[in-house]
Amino acid sequence: MSPHETREFINAVEYTVQLTSVVAGGARWRTAYARARRVAERLANAAARAKDVVDVRAVAGASHDGQVLTPERVCFGAANSGHGTGVDPAKLNRYLDPDRERALASLAEANAAARARRQADFDRRQAIGCSNPAGLGPGIARPCRCAYCRPQEHLEVRGETRETWAGGGRCLCGRLSNPPAFGCRPHRGQQLVVLDGDPPELARLAAVIARAHTTDRTSPPPGRDEPGLPPPGR
Ligand SMILES: [Zn+2]
Ligand SMILES: [Zn+2]
Repeated sequence: MSPHETREFINAVEYTVQLTSVVAGGARWRTAYARARRVAERLANAAARAKDVVDVRAVAGASHDGQVLTPERVCFGAANSGHGTGVDPAKLNRYLDPDRERALASLAEANAAARARRQADFDRRQAIGCSNPAGLGPGIARPCRCAYCRPQEHLEVRGETRETWAGGGRCLCGRLSNPPAFGCRPHRGQQLVVLDGDPPELARLAAVIARAHTTDRTSPPPGRDEPGLPPPGR
């Protein structure tokens, strides 16, 4: 189980306490501000040390009727991440439990991988004119006969043997094409791209296509005005 899939992380809740206090002044006008900042720091420290608390950030500032006028991030001794200030660079402004930090990093990594996969899926579908390049769910997908939308159908049409596929077949886009290893004119040379999480039929189809390319490298030759086959395995 990844760190971001634990119950501790999934069921965690962010909770903000708004607490307003009045601090007695001293002989100089700055004294009360300095005292108030120390109170804010102590409160943040107490929160960071409280049982089960895994992440603390605090914002404080002079207020009127409970509304903070110029909110500032509180730097406190128990903080272990975030940033310090020019006044006290040793004190940071966020406490982050190491387990939560790992879970946040793992979540960010998973999100980035999902984004990259979505983009790769979009790119490969767009390359062959799929009607569903934006990855619509199966329930709302537009009708499309491309290899990514109907991998099983492509497998059946190509079959497993040269005799079957040489007699007729489909381009990755779904149009009839003969021989199918070459694809229809606008998609000639397009490669089937298999991604993590694809149905097994796609990997099988990729193997069948690779075999067809190998068997058919010399016959039939591409026309003089048409690009040749890309080298296998590219
Ligand atoms: Zn499609
Ligand atoms: Zn095509």
